[in-house]
Amino acid sequence: TRMEDSGVFNAGKGACLTIDKKIEMDASIMDGRDISAGCVGMVKGISNPIKLARQVMERTDHVMIVSDGVNKLAKLSNTHIGRISPNQQSLNKYYDIKRNMKKRWKKNNDLSFMALDHNNRHLGTVGAVAIDKEGNVASGVSTGGKWLKMSGRIGDSAVIGGGFYADNKSGAACATGNGEYIMRLCMCKYACDQMQSNNALLSSNRSIAVLTKQFGKNTGGIITVDRKGRFGVAYNTHTMPVASITSKDEKVKIAS
Ligand code: ASP
Repeated sequence: TRMEDSGVFNAGKGACLTIDKKIEMDASIMDGRDISAGCVGMVKGISNPIKLARQVMERTDHVMIVSDGVNKLAKLSNTHIGRISPNQQSLNKYYDIKRNMKKRWKKNNDLSFMALDHNNRHLGTVGAVAIDKEGNVASGVSTGGKWLKMSGRIGDSAVIGGGFYADNKSGAACATGNGEYIMRLCMCKYACDQMQSNNALLSSNRSIAVLTKQFGKNTGGIITVDRKGRFGVAYNTHTMPVASITSKDEKVKIAS
């Protein structure tokens, strides 16, 4: 929730805008003890989609709830949520991106935007993987998706095995990058399967190698933790900020 509230990332307050200048977010959480999961998609006007994903996991027998259903769940479950709407900063960015796209594309209708390659432009999904001293792993992710996406588009951050996965038998994984690519490779499930016999770093590297081989560079990144508590990070983009904290650390350590 802190990262959603910061406004710095493409999630919660800082979420990107759809082609219709609206905010529509996806978020998910998964518990490796029993592979229970909760996903929300097309979340509108709510500051912390990850809280609602948790409600789906813990208080319903469903796995995914989207659109207006999420707002109904917030009411039913009495979840405390703030309201958000597009701010001036995100509107400015929207017009900037649209202007640049128009320069590059002759046809200016909405569908021509959809044909654009969104690789490595204005990403910034937030995610976390964690392990406790009993070896229980978990994964959580929250995003605004892609800038200028069509309304109704749901990405990897709401799809189990795509943008996140957690299973005590292997480990936990969380991804960022081009959701359409990540989903098609079931990348986080692949990373967890790799962790059945490899450490987190090797599994992360292999997952990103598969992504790069299939879809090229600048397509994504992944963070992982294996069941022995080793962390892994890999990405084929220029940068991907990562931080870590353990119960012994007083402060978050910025890793890259
Ligand atoms: N993976 C997200 C999506 O496609 C975007 C991102 O990672 O920034 O929805």
